Amino acid sequence: MDKLKLRENFDEIVQRVERARLRVSEYHIVKIVAISKYVSSDEVRELYDLGQRAFGENRVQELKQKCEELEDLPIEWHFVGRLQKNKINHLIELDPFLMHSLDSLELALELDKRLEAKGKKMDSLLQINSAKEDTKAGVMPEVAVEEYLKIIENTKHINLKGVMTIGAHTKDESEIKKSFETTYKIYEALQPHGAKICSMGMSNDFELAIECGSNMVRIGSLFFK
Ligand SMILES: *Cc1c(COP(=O)(O)O)cnc(C)c1O
Repeated sequence: MDKLKLRENFDEIVQRVERARLRVSEYHIVKIVAISKYVSSDEVRELYDLGQRAFGENRVQELKQKCEELEDLPIEWHFVGRLQKNKINHLIELDPFLMHSLDSLELALELDKRLEAKGKKMDSLLQINSAKEDTKAGVMPEVAVEEYLKIIENTKHINLKGVMTIGAHTKDESEIKKSFETTYKIYEALQPHGAKICSMGMSNDFELAIECGSNMVRIGSLFFK
């Protein structure tokens, strides 16, 4: 990819995130995770050279390949995809900085068991199906707080750090906003239980997400357009 274009995209993203976070508060800090699933390790390296440090992938196999190819860089790797049971051990081996997509108590128990066997820990977020879409993973909003507390209670090797959601899949901005507000309310309710991260907002809706309280955005296509 053209280096100049990548720099332009990066500049645009940083400036737009900056303006959105200042609309919330001077003290509202937002972390940008660059989702690199559309590109190769070469582009990740170029973006790293421009200053980006946090990257995310949605497939364990892709994450493994990039981790290996970019071993020489101190990248903070995030996992944001659906985790199949047969890939759990592979993900643990990669020691991701943060797993965004814990989507059930059942998966949490399974992951915890494998972490225990390997003597490792994993920082994770509980994924919320905030617009109740059949096509999306995550726990339903009504039971999210309860599920989060159950995971804390029943696992020893998962450190729950907050929540993640994907905005409603629609062009209707009020519906998208509603899904972010729903998630933010859950996040607020979980703050007394240690929740620190509210991961929401992608290329098409990150400003709205930030205005609804997101402090971590996952941006892919806008970087690499
Ligand atoms: C692909 C992906 C993103 C980034 O999406 P863009 O619309 O390309 O910014 C964010 N989160 C998850 C979970 C993804 O799978």
